Amino acid sequence: MRVLSGIQPTGQLHWGNYFGAIRQYIDLQEDNDGFYFIADLHALTTVRNPDELRSNTLGIALDMLALGLDPNQATLFVQSHVPEVTELTWLLMTGTPMGLLERCHAYKDKKEKGLNADAGLFNYPVLMAADILAYDSQIVPVGADQIQHIEVCRDLVGSFHHTFGETFVVPKAKTLDVGARVPGTDGQKMSKSYDNTLPLFGDVKKIRKQIMRIVTDSRPVEEPKEPAGDHLFDLYRLFASPDEIAAMSAKYRAGGFGYGEVKKAVADVSEAYFAEARERREELSQDLDTVRDILAAGAGRAREVASGVLDRARSACGLR
Ligand code: ATP
Ligand code: MG
Repeated sequence: MRVLSGIQPTGQLHWGNYFGAIRQYIDLQEDNDGFYFIADLHALTTVRNPDELRSNTLGIALDMLALGLDPNQATLFVQSHVPEVTELTWLLMTGTPMGLLERCHAYKDKKEKGLNADAGLFNYPVLMAADILAYDSQIVPVGADQIQHIEVCRDLVGSFHHTFGETFVVPKAKTLDVGARVPGTDGQKMSKSYDNTLPLFGDVKKIRKQIMRIVTDSRPVEEPKEPAGDHLFDLYRLFASPDEIAAMSAKYRAGGFGYGEVKKAVADVSEAYFAEARERREELSQDLDTVRDILAAGAGRAREVASGVLDRARSACGLR
């Protein structure tokens, strides 16, 4: 199966990116044909500093490799290295109803948060659809926040096919039961651009401090608490074993302890969980040329596929 997914270089990768998306990339890479990219064109809708964009892009490649993405099994590349995708975006955009994009949550949410809503942000789902279609992708592993965008992609395929005939492979989203919507330190969806993230890498002490700042309710220590729906508990269960989860649930229900204790447990399990990847990242960062070579080879493979698909799309709509 062709599996495809992307991550924006809009900041440091966080627990949500790992448990919602990257963990799936790694699980799927062995038995499938994985195409994973760093979405720098999408990131341009938020990052307006060229040096920052460049260093974030390389940083995310390092992160993915350190977390276990194997360039011999999967294709890792940078979105903008495949210009076929932007042309395909235009072909799709000419058949995209405005109302479809106006209903998209990511756009609505960012706009409500007062972030710049330019045409790039508005058209984000069309570029995402082109990314998916350009590689004949069958499965798109994502967090729950992206399901709607994949529905948009399927709608766009439907109307393109209705007008011009069968051209594309119709993709399906794939999410996990646990980790599809990892909460941030404020309880909302953890997001690079919301300043509520717990990063995968970076200064351990700083991450501990961020964990200690996770917002909780202010019930007294003695009072029993319900683990279901508690976002601190949701973070703990990402890392803990079934036995540890059962023990923590029992503690919650018994009461008599503070959230500080849970936060400390979250800090300990998460630190141990990413320790090996942290070491690998450190090693890889000494050899950035190898990382650049991996990205160049990935772009070559990706372009081969994308140019074939673009040819089909051009022919279908009368551009040749
Ligand atoms: P931004 O705030 O710039 O949109 P982001 O943190 O939402 O950044 P993206 O690059 O947009 O990250 O998303 C990369 C992948 O990570 C997507 O598959 C997305 O669904 C997933 N993802 C992002 N945040 C979460 C989360 N809190 N829980 C689970 N999955 C997530
Ligand atoms: Mg996002």
